[in-house]
Amino acid sequence: MKVISATSELEVAVSFFKELGLTVGLVPTMGALHNGHASLVKKCVAENDVCIVSVFVNPTQFNNANDLATYPRTLEADCKLLESLGANIAFAPTVDQIYPYPDTRQFDFTPLDKVMEGPMRPGHFNGVAQVVSRLFDITKPNRAYFGEKDFQQLAIIREMCRKYGYNDLEIVGCPIVREESGLALSSRNARLSDSQKKTAVGISKALFDSKNIKNSKNVAETKQWVVDTINAIDGMEVEYYEIVDGNTLQPISDWKETSYPVGCITVYLGDVRLIDNIKY
Ligand code: AMP
Repeated sequence: MKVISATSELEVAVSFFKELGLTVGLVPTMGALHNGHASLVKKCVAENDVCIVSVFVNPTQFNNANDLATYPRTLEADCKLLESLGANIAFAPTVDQIYPYPDTRQFDFTPLDKVMEGPMRPGHFNGVAQVVSRLFDITKPNRAYFGEKDFQQLAIIREMCRKYGYNDLEIVGCPIVREESGLALSSRNARLSDSQKKTAVGISKALFDSKNIKNSKNVAETKQWVVDTINAIDGMEVEYYEIVDGNTLQPISDWKETSYPVGCITVYLGDVRLIDNIKY
């Protein structure tokens, strides 16, 4: 596996692959890699001639300076893992390599970015679109892999492709990878103490349990039950819980409104913000 930090070097490599007629898969990440990321990389390796994994903590998608400053960075371990998974290139650029000049582009994903993470993290999805489009332009992938863990992000990336000219690129959504306890794997879990990790299991447990009560409760009651159940656990505070149509991301008020209801949650555990979701 080659570790590349210069955009120009990667562009040369990609044009060489394209000349040879090889297919290119891209897995965008912010590093601190875990088995969730590994599942995307394995799929990418299996489905493409060349697998490129970017490891870049993108400043433009952080709306909280402390979150950016404390984001875990473990490049050496990340490269070891990527090599063992069969990735061909780890792209680990500096900020200047991705943004040689400030990125002032404004994307509009209305109405997908007007709900849930949108209002809670102003500018977040614009920053995601900036970095992902930049990575698409540099690596010209045939396929790009994203996790359903970031359910709203996946929908917005699909919309970005549709709306902003990446129609030939296949976006591959990959299921959430969880610990045996049910806790969704996340780089931010590294900031949890052992006892906080045990507490955090309450999030996925409430989501799974809510599937069982769905038949006897309406949407509003189910939402309230999830929020109350998690807030009753010491140390946790739900920021929002929305049950949405999984295609449009718009909140539903009746189960009959969609055949694809998805519950999306964010919870603060101390100052660590955790997200998860469940398909009903
Ligand atoms: P991140 O490094 O957090 O930006 O994540 C990079 C990619 O990995 C995104 O597409 C995430 O949705 C995906 N991802 C992160 N955690 C998981 C997980 N537990 N299961 C599946 N995919 C994940």
